[in-house]
Amino acid sequence: MANPLKTFTLPDLLKGMSVTARTFFTRKYTLNYPEEKAPQSPRFRGLHALRRYANGQERCIACKLCETVCPATCITIDSDAAEDGTRRTTRYDIDLFKCIYCGFCEEACPVDAIVLTRIHEYHMEQRGENIMSKDKLLAIGERYETLIAVDKAADAPYR
Ligand code: SF4
Ligand code: SF4
Repeated sequence: MANPLKTFTLPDLLKGMSVTARTFFTRKYTLNYPEEKAPQSPRFRGLHALRRYANGQERCIACKLCETVCPATCITIDSDAAEDGTRRTTRYDIDLFKCIYCGFCEEACPVDAIVLTRIHEYHMEQRGENIMSKDKLLAIGERYETLIAVDKAADAPYR
């Protein structure tokens, strides 16, 4: 049976209002995203990228360590000998729908070729856009190489 005193004095409501009153003038933690952004770590794991060396050569040597270590089996690599005799990927696909952004591929790569960038604001509009092909990954790497290099340098002392 309901307590008539509680029914008329509404103590739960007053308790809730007191919390509102207490926190009304304190510092707010809500960010007005996307105008305001939360700080990101140099280790942030967002969209993938494939990097090149400064001379334009692809870093990836098609060793397939990333493909092997990936727990979501979302990396698919085909490789062949290039004209200069080096081993290169002929296909490098990442299925973003399967990826869990664990960063194991980046950790495993011996030449810092595959990296996870800070990019997290992206979307897909067409079926199949979840597959990040080698061309797309290299294009992201070229576009964000400066930021990637700065983040790698910031993280280097802890490795
Ligand atoms: S971040 Fe993890 S799940 Fe995604 S491709 Fe790399 S190893 Fe696979
Ligand atoms: S991205 Fe790195 S780990 Fe993956 S195949 Fe290329 S060199 Fe090997």
